Amino acid sequence: MIALDQHPSGRHFLQIPGPSPVPDRILRAMSLPTIDHRGPEFGVLGLKVLSGIRQVFRTRHPVVIYPASGTGAWEAALANVLSPGDAVLMYETGHFASLWQKMALRLGLKPEFLALPGTDALTGLPNSWRHGVQADLIEQRLRADGGHQIKAVCVVHNETSTGVTSDIAAVRRAIDAAKHPALLLVDTISGLASADYRHDDWGVDVTVSGSQKGLMLPPGISFNAVSPKAIEASKKATLPKAFWAWDEIIEMNKTGYWPYTPNTNLLYGLSEALDMLLDQGLESVFARHHRWGEAVRGAVRAWGLPIQCADPAVYSPVLTGVITPEGVDADALRKLIHQRFDLSLGTGLGRVKGRMFRIGHLGDCNDLTLMAALSGVEMGLKLSGIVTAGSGVQAAMDFFASHPQSPALQAAA
Ligand SMILES: *Cc1c(COP(=O)(O)O)cnc(C)c1O
Repeated sequence: MIALDQHPSGRHFLQIPGPSPVPDRILRAMSLPTIDHRGPEFGVLGLKVLSGIRQVFRTRHPVVIYPASGTGAWEAALANVLSPGDAVLMYETGHFASLWQKMALRLGLKPEFLALPGTDALTGLPNSWRHGVQADLIEQRLRADGGHQIKAVCVVHNETSTGVTSDIAAVRRAIDAAKHPALLLVDTISGLASADYRHDDWGVDVTVSGSQKGLMLPPGISFNAVSPKAIEASKKATLPKAFWAWDEIIEMNKTGYWPYTPNTNLLYGLSEALDMLLDQGLESVFARHHRWGEAVRGAVRAWGLPIQCADPAVYSPVLTGVITPEGVDADALRKLIHQRFDLSLGTGLGRVKGRMFRIGHLGDCNDLTLMAALSGVEMGLKLSGIVTAGSGVQAAMDFFASHPQSPALQAAA
């Protein structure tokens, strides 16, 4: 945001892939007075959000809610089901997969980091940071593990550092084809409530998510959706766990309470977000994210810049990574756009720092707010001489004009 004493008029454009803009309706719900977390009203709220969030994960089993960022829920997933020295098979899709792998190391696990080898000839970037999870590589590795040393397979569903949404059902099939008993742990911190996700149908054992992306809430709460197999594993697993331990939380959640003080005002926000998402229907939510993704990618193509995700089958409906030409500092471009137009874009993370920027198209968006964001990007690209011809804004307008949102979706929104 511009320095606080400058009071820019209008709204800041928070176009990063999380935190995403929080709708006024949710901000208002969160401004209600904090209540006694042991009192009768709280139990009603607790039961409501615990039941609603299960619908969003598409699970009939418990979802644990932590007053923590997504990183806390990553740790909870590992600490509940694994023991010191356990081998875990993790898959490198980008920066967030790399951070989860580092965390596994710090917890005393033995992560093996599988990746698509090589670098991309056009951009010089690692192939694994432009593609989704290759389920066949996971299947091969599990088949070679005849002694079943590998206790868990960990993958990121929507890799927020690259704009790639991996096929989780294919990972499940790979584990089953190898007849391997490893648990399946999935990070969909940025995918939940934007991209199709099915905890039960895809046979996921622990799904990790967070509040500040598709759920349209501020940062501060995060989730573990857990399968019966994960709960069984948690009874025998010996990594130290206390605050993160599922058992007492799940027990107290049966009546809508927590063993400690939960994040009451964020739960008011969650209750409102669940009303919005479930009233609209998850299918419409996914359809509008898909449509925004198409419009933004059309703009990027018109600018003549490569889309970070090199495989159209796994384009993310949540964000688009845009690669800048060799020698152009993507962060300098972001800075210019921020200063001139009060628009925040996502930075390149880890191995792609300075080589790309990210446009978030998730949560509380609509066609016109997205058009405004694309205008800001296009002005920045032209001011810095990165793009001289071609209008991404025109391409996106053409796309929106020729692909109206279906009337059913409009009515619901
Ligand atoms: C945002 C994000 C995280 C980290 O969550 P925090 O809330 O910042 O701790 C992890 N994984 C993915 C895929 C994310 O998008």
